[in-house]
Amino acid sequence: MVPRPAQAVALTSGHVSTTTAVSRALVLNASFEPLCVVTARRALLLVLDEKAELLAATDGVFRSVRASFPEPSVVRLARYVKVPYQTRVALNRRAVFARDGHRCQYCGAGAENIDHVVPRSRGGTHTWENVVAACRPCNSHKEDRLLHEVGFTLRHSPAQPHQRIWLLVAIGGVRPDWEPYLGIAPMSDLGTTSLSA
Ligand SMILES: [Zn+2]
Repeated sequence: MVPRPAQAVALTSGHVSTTTAVSRALVLNASFEPLCVVTARRALLLVLDEKAELLAATDGVFRSVRASFPEPSVVRLARYVKVPYQTRVALNRRAVFARDGHRCQYCGAGAENIDHVVPRSRGGTHTWENVVAACRPCNSHKEDRLLHEVGFTLRHSPAQPHQRIWLLVAIGGVRPDWEPYLGIAPMSDLGTTSLSA
């Protein structure tokens, strides 16, 4: 069936869910870079308008009088959209864990804490460049010392993430089926690591 123009389609969500949250969809730029998150309904209208292609769907269904459509989870814009500026990303534990792949940046074990590379007591700042994910043993062994004093090296130089999607990571709004498109470590690989902060 050829979809009717989106404006003419009266959609009813047939999604069965016990939550009251509106389903959301990840929008990728034509280049596959994550761009933003919109309601699933808005994403479907983009697809029906041929402004975006459907890459992943949930189990949910939108129904119109004549047809039913899968509820989008990930869509990709047909045309490349220039992003005019980069939004500053809030620094918090969840976002640091996501940036660092939930791994201790000193030894590679599962991270449980965040650590100030230069301790705050030694003048270190609470910034993206000085905060890393760390396991509990490394965190407690290092205490208020500098890296060379404990023989630690960093696996990666910490830096502020620049993609807008990290704003979503920071507020915990990432669906599992978005992860392959975001280039972040799946939560399911992390065993018992707790992300509650
Ligand atoms: Zn460690």
